Amino acid sequence: MKVQIGDICLGDDCPIVVQSMTNTFTSDVEASVAQVKRMVAAGCEMIRLTVPSMKEVDALREIKSRLRTEGIEVPLIADVHFLPNVAEACAAVVEKVRVNPGNFVDKRSFRQIDLSETEYAAAVDAMAQRAKPLFDICKQHGTALRIGINHGSLCDRIVSRYGNTPYAMAMSAMEWVGICQRYDFHNVVFSMKSSNVNVMTDATMQLLKMMKESGTVYPLHVGVTEAGAGDEGRVKSAAGIGALLLHGIGSTIRVSLTEPPENEVPFARLLTRLNDEKPSVYTSISDGCLTIRYDVKDRQKWLAVTAAFAGYEHFNHRLKDIVIENKYYSLDECKYLSNLILQACRIKMTQTEFISCPSCGRTQYDIQSTLEKVKQRFSGYPNLKIGVMGCVVNGPGEMADADFGIVGCTHGKVSVYRQKERLTPPLEVDEALDYLQQLITPTLQTL
Ligand code: SF4
Repeated sequence: MKVQIGDICLGDDCPIVVQSMTNTFTSDVEASVAQVKRMVAAGCEMIRLTVPSMKEVDALREIKSRLRTEGIEVPLIADVHFLPNVAEACAAVVEKVRVNPGNFVDKRSFRQIDLSETEYAAAVDAMAQRAKPLFDICKQHGTALRIGINHGSLCDRIVSRYGNTPYAMAMSAMEWVGICQRYDFHNVVFSMKSSNVNVMTDATMQLLKMMKESGTVYPLHVGVTEAGAGDEGRVKSAAGIGALLLHGIGSTIRVSLTEPPENEVPFARLLTRLNDEKPSVYTSISDGCLTIRYDVKDRQKWLAVTAAFAGYEHFNHRLKDIVIENKYYSLDECKYLSNLILQACRIKMTQTEFISCPSCGRTQYDIQSTLEKVKQRFSGYPNLKIGVMGCVVNGPGEMADADFGIVGCTHGKVSVYRQKERLTPPLEVDEALDYLQQLITPTLQTL
């Protein structure tokens, strides 16, 4: 199936497309246009902007108009949660709209809800009926859709029936495959994201199998969400995205980093060229230990290609250990990369797992510097997972299996969470970190 998004095509024999998302306030037209231009200059081919309310739809229109006036034709994607009417308005403005089945009509309150077959079918039908105006507007304007399933925001109905599992993600997506068929709408892309590489790859594979069995395979957007920053974020992204691309899966990719979005693009570009790069020695051993020798000087290329091939082998064989070799790097540096990949694939945890979102126009505090502060205070605990999330709207759900979290509120403040439970009112960042430290210090000795 081929999908058209402005001048860009996805699927069939179209090249893999690199995309990213702004983290400016969409209502700040000047800042958003400036950031889009930097992203385009970096090589970004599609750009998503959050649209949290009707107020931002006008700003989105203005951003598009300003870009087109300057001859910048990059397709724009509206990212919409919770508000079908906002999605409908955006569908008349930009080339693509992303909606999340977990919050389009259904909601997530972490409650078990038991529905009979009849009630369950009625809930799916109600969702389909609410989606009809969106499909109609998309058809009228030639707008594409992304049905973006996130592990951390599956609705109560789905989780109660299928558990919080990759299978549940695939089943949620398949409900929307059915809705697309019902409305004869096929300009659609699906994504299955999680901060857990294994969940993300597993869910995507399961969806692909189900789509093949249904007779219609839509293009897939692939990415590891809340991957973090720096080497950890890049390696986690490469392990997940690379594993799928090396299986021939994925029409568009996003490397989600808690960094300026233009930083994502060069690394994502390396992943689009995996078929041209192959580690020189590449041994898969039957006892579950993989040795990868890739003698390359370019450090980013080394991280990208090695993590991608390791992710691919881990998906196929469920590895127990990974040995990295590169004649240009020391044993310590090779061990460092090996540990990052082992952690990314959750084979062996050697340090604290940081789950942090890339931020977007919903973020009202400095998430990048906060993540650095959190890392300085809490690194080195292999059994500890800490989320650093941009907003209260999606953050608590999306940090999924984190033990503790810092979640953005309004006006530069954050709240501290223990799993899904909010423990503090909005605090200044340093105050929140002190609270978090007091909270978890007693347990750190045992981690
Ligand atoms: S969790 Fe982060 S990326 Fe997701 S909507 Fe909130 S601020 Fe944006």
